[in-house]
Amino acid sequence: MAYQLNKKLINLVPYEPISGEYEVRLDANESFISVSEDMRAQICSVVMQADFNRYPDPLCTDLREIFAKKNGVGVDNVAVGNGSDELISILMNSFLEKGDKVVTLSPDFSMYSFYCSGAECENVVLKKDENFNITVDEIITCANENNARMIIFSNPCNPTSCGIEAQEIRRLIKNVSALVVLDEAYMDFWDQSILSEINDYDNLIVLKTCSKAVGLAAIRLGFAVSNSVLTRAINAAKSPYNVNTLTQEIGKIILSNDEYVRCSREQILESKEYLYNALCKYNCSGFEVLESKTNFIYIKTDRAKDIFEKLKTHSIVVRCFGNGLRITAGTKAENEKLINCLDKIL
Ligand SMILES: *Cc1c(COP(=O)(O)O)cnc(C)c1O
Repeated sequence: MAYQLNKKLINLVPYEPISGEYEVRLDANESFISVSEDMRAQICSVVMQADFNRYPDPLCTDLREIFAKKNGVGVDNVAVGNGSDELISILMNSFLEKGDKVVTLSPDFSMYSFYCSGAECENVVLKKDENFNITVDEIITCANENNARMIIFSNPCNPTSCGIEAQEIRRLIKNVSALVVLDEAYMDFWDQSILSEINDYDNLIVLKTCSKAVGLAAIRLGFAVSNSVLTRAINAAKSPYNVNTLTQEIGKIILSNDEYVRCSREQILESKEYLYNALCKYNCSGFEVLESKTNFIYIKTDRAKDIFEKLKTHSIVVRCFGNGLRITAGTKAENEKLINCLDKIL
């Protein structure tokens, strides 16, 4: 008898980032700044000293302490993951039971529905309007009418770069009984975080990642911030050695370096401003540049596919959605090359 994959696996295809060699990659919202020579030397020294034969610290004690202090929360409010992606997976698989309803928004980060179906939960998708707006009242009504167990969305949002203000987010959390998972992956670029308020709520988990503003996509490091009851549950549900020793050590070095973190953020914001202003030149009825609260720009255009393909022939890759383009802020040279090519294409 032949082995058969089950229903939830049989149609799955492995995640494929854009393949091929491109000179300019503005497709994945990564930071264009990598660690300095000086920090690399510090990293080398922890590699030299690491106890490779031993398991890592299962609770990431030092790293949690550093993160907690920088963010004005307690150590018992912080759980660490192998990227926030892993944390999303843990939350879906452990805080939900088969058939539970999860409210997501559309468009939003695609991994929410991916993990939701893996956890065999029902995904209730709430569509944003044509300007990518959605009111908190719509979310509250949808969650409560469906008796949802979880609401998960990014704020500010990937891919739209739009955001919902803190005051409205607070009103949402207070008016639902669902667990609200607030993905603040891009909140380093906006000022509406409610991360420090997690102890005011029994139903809030805030996710943070080191892959974007901090420029550590390579090491896979993310945080879940919540009251101590929820944090304890996450720490109990995760696999014990989910964050490897090198990631913990590198994370400690980088997150302790306030100057690096602050400078990176400033340079990325500067790059975003430049890109936004340069792209706005092309604004017309078929090409609408959205105001951005993130490190990328979203453009609504029916020519998305055409522009995307033409940019590729110039060795520039961005992210293409049906009728939109998402372009990550890059180095000065990368941004200029992009604008030069767009001059020709448009
Ligand atoms: C990039 C991104 C993440 C992924 O973060 P990792 O820590 O790299 O797994 C999570 N949420 C959103 C909205 C993102 O855009």
